[in-house]
Amino acid sequence: MYVVCNVHLEIAIEEFVEIYEQPPDIYELDKVSFTDWTSPQICHYCDRVPRFLVV
Ligand SMILES: [Zn+2]
Repeated sequence: MYVVCNVHLEIAIEEFVEIYEQPPDIYELDKVSFTDWTSPQICHYCDRVPRFLVV
């Protein structure tokens, strides 16, 4: 699972496909909420505010 900014979305998708050998589901962070999960404050790859959840 990756939480990424818009700049790193493509990299996260590539990495996901490489590891799991299937395309990820992509969600916009401001449109989803999880009861027992707090989204990270920064992107997986940089310090920007994350925009997407790749799972
Ligand atoms: Zn980033």
